[in-house]
Amino acid sequence: MDTLALLGGPQVIEAPFERYNSMGEEEVAAASAVVQSGVLSKFIGGWRPDFYGGPKVNEFERQCEAYFNVRHAITVNSWTSGLIAAVGAIGIEPGDEVIVSPWTMCASATAILQWNAIPVFADIEAETFCLDPASVEANISPYTKAIMAVDIFGQSANMEAIMDIARRHNLKVICDTAQAPGAYYKGAFAGTLADIGGYSLNYHKHIHTGEGGILVTNDDTLAERMRLIRNHAEGVVGAKGTNDLANMIGFNFRLGEIECAIGIEQLKKLSRFVESRQAAAERLTAGLSGLKGLRTPVVREDATHVYYGYPMVLDVEALGVSRARIIEALRAEGLEGVAAGYVNVHLLPMYQKKIAFGNSGFPWTSDICKRDVSYDKGICPVAEQLHDESFLGFEMCLHRLTDQEVDKVVAVFQKVWANLDTLR
Ligand SMILES: *Cc1c(COP(=O)(O)O)cnc(C)c1O
Repeated sequence: MDTLALLGGPQVIEAPFERYNSMGEEEVAAASAVVQSGVLSKFIGGWRPDFYGGPKVNEFERQCEAYFNVRHAITVNSWTSGLIAAVGAIGIEPGDEVIVSPWTMCASATAILQWNAIPVFADIEAETFCLDPASVEANISPYTKAIMAVDIFGQSANMEAIMDIARRHNLKVICDTAQAPGAYYKGAFAGTLADIGGYSLNYHKHIHTGEGGILVTNDDTLAERMRLIRNHAEGVVGAKGTNDLANMIGFNFRLGEIECAIGIEQLKKLSRFVESRQAAAERLTAGLSGLKGLRTPVVREDATHVYYGYPMVLDVEALGVSRARIIEALRAEGLEGVAAGYVNVHLLPMYQKKIAFGNSGFPWTSDICKRDVSYDKGICPVAEQLHDESFLGFEMCLHRLTDQEVDKVVAVFQKVWANLDTLR
């Protein structure tokens, strides 16, 4: 048995893996054709045909509509922008509460705060890391306006239960599917079951355009409101004859022609990229499933996982070794992309100190905030325990992950597990 690299033995992975790269010749050609055309964006912030953007923006959006089987796809310059447009579009009022997962990238919750609405964090399911419907229900107050579900790591939240809660309480649902493009949930694409959903196109995701995002909805009114928020709503509504002026405060969230030309090529490859992540994850699971005290990903019934991340949980007590020590040993073998815990958004300084807009605690200290919402440690025990003690993540879109590379990842885990005694 080889000595652990941590204790001076040879490393399993001697050379770094090649990075995951979704770009090919097609993207190069598509981007350069746009540059040659001289039209890098055609958007106009006024009520004219170009209010909806240029040819590549429109082509990409129509292709996203066909692909994801939705009435409307709306491109934006980041998914963070998309989330802000979505929260504004549902007619949020200052002080309204939106129930959101703490186990997500911080932007899911910040998008709520940007409209002076109040994020309320519900706990997550221990197996899928998505919002727990029971905790959502327990966090509903007279001021709740919407639910922000997050399809974290690559699989859908329990949308059947969440949509049912929303219908019973007359709430809107926004779904942050940044990490799960192409995942299926009960026969539909994740992100398309909510009132508004969508995907990130940033550099780290399955497919990307450098920066960018796609909003999807089947609601004509919400779609038009998001197009207005994307493109200087306040300067457009007069000429357009828009009557509902609530949140018609515009931004410039427009995505350019080059990005959309690249996006058109990326979308054609999405299912292939997803299948390659799934194959790598299945190979990894086959290799790791015999290791005691390590739980491999749990996939929801009637759903698929696209493995943006590969979430594992350690049984630290059974192992008798701390997570920190195990990760140290994994990394010493040359393994990149492993992480202890994920995020507990409610524990970020902004929420702990309730300092966001200015320095006086707005919006929490103002009368638009109708009750004292707690962000104390303890409000999301499942998410907190996983983050603090037992969750172990592996980034699946960091490296290309050929079969040989996946086998090396497995070999790293097997070696560390065979040497647990020396770590104790
Ligand atoms: C990436 C990501 C975002 C933000 O997307 P950007 O395109 O970078 O703005 C939001 N939520 C989740 C869960 C993400 O993974």
